[in-house]
Amino acid sequence: NTTATTRTALVTGSSRGIGRAVARRLAADGMVVAVHYGRDAAAAQETVELIARDGGRAFSVGADLATHDGVLALVEGVRAGFAAHTGEAALDVLVNNAAATGSGGHLGDETPEQFDRVFAVNVRAPYFLVQGLLPVLRDGGRIINIGSAVTRIALADELAYAMTKGAMETFTRTLANVVGERRITVNTVAPGPTQTASLTAAMAAVPELEGMLIGGQALPWVGQPEDIADPVAFLASEDGRWITGTVIDASGGTYLG
Ligand code: NDP
Repeated sequence: NTTATTRTALVTGSSRGIGRAVARRLAADGMVVAVHYGRDAAAAQETVELIARDGGRAFSVGADLATHDGVLALVEGVRAGFAAHTGEAALDVLVNNAAATGSGGHLGDETPEQFDRVFAVNVRAPYFLVQGLLPVLRDGGRIINIGSAVTRIALADELAYAMTKGAMETFTRTLANVVGERRITVNTVAPGPTQTASLTAAMAAVPELEGMLIGGQALPWVGQPEDIADPVAFLASEDGRWITGTVIDASGGTYLG
C-alpha cells in the first residue's frame, strides 16, 4: 500500500524556468522533490527555499548532464538524498526536463561537437538516467519527458534541437511498452513558447513579440511555466494512471492551422 508512503520526485533542470515550476507544483502536491541543476547552485537553492516557504520539502543535487559521469553522479545523489530525507532510496516520479535549449542547431555553421552536446544533454542523459533510476523507481511510478512543439512545427534554426525532441517522443512510446508491466507510465508533455527568463527578455527587447506569439495560438496569452507544470502534475497523479506512451501538447494550440 503506497498511499501512506511519502512520494518522491526528481525534476532535472529545476533551478529555473519550467523545471522550477514543475518542482514547486509537485512539492505542493506533497512530494519530496530533488531539485537538480547544472551550473547554478544558488538558483537551485532558491527553488528549494521557495518550496520550503510554501510548506514543502526539497533538496538540491548538481550534475552536468553533458557527461555520462554527471548522469551517474545524479543517480547516486538522488538515491542518497532520498535515503537521507525519507529513509528510503525510492523514487516515484522522474521528470526529464533539463535540456540544452539555446544551442540552435541549424545546418549552416554547426560543428559535430555542438551537435553531440545537444544530443548528450537532451537524449543520452535521460536514457541513462532512466537506466540508473529504474531499480529504485517504485511500481506505479511515472516518467515524464518535457518535449517541444518543434517536433510538429518546423523551425529551421532549431533543427538539431528538434531532432532531440523527436528522439524523446520515440523513447517515450517504446519505453512505455517496456515498463508498463510494472504500472509505470511514460509520457511527454510538449510545450510551445513558454515565458521563462529568456522569453521575458526577448519580449522586452521586441515589443511586437507578445502579439506575434498570441497571434499564432488558439488561446490568448503567452504560455507560463505553470501552464506546463499543471499537466505534468496531472500525469504524475493517480488520475493519470491510464495514460501512457503519448505526447500531450501543452502549447495553447500553437499553429493549429
Ligand atoms: P531553461 O533554459 O530556462 O533551463 C534549463 C534547465 O536545464 C536549467 O535548470 C539548467 O540548469 C538545466 N541544464 C541545462 N543544461 C544542462 C546540463 N548540461 N547539465 C545539467 N543541467 C542542465 O529551460 P526551459 O525552462 O526553457 O525549458 C525546460 C524544458 O522545456 C526543456 O526540456 C525545453 O526543451 C522545454 N521547452 C521549453 C520551451 C520554452 O519556451 N521555454 C518551449 C518548448 C520546450 P543550470 O541553469 O543550473 O545549468
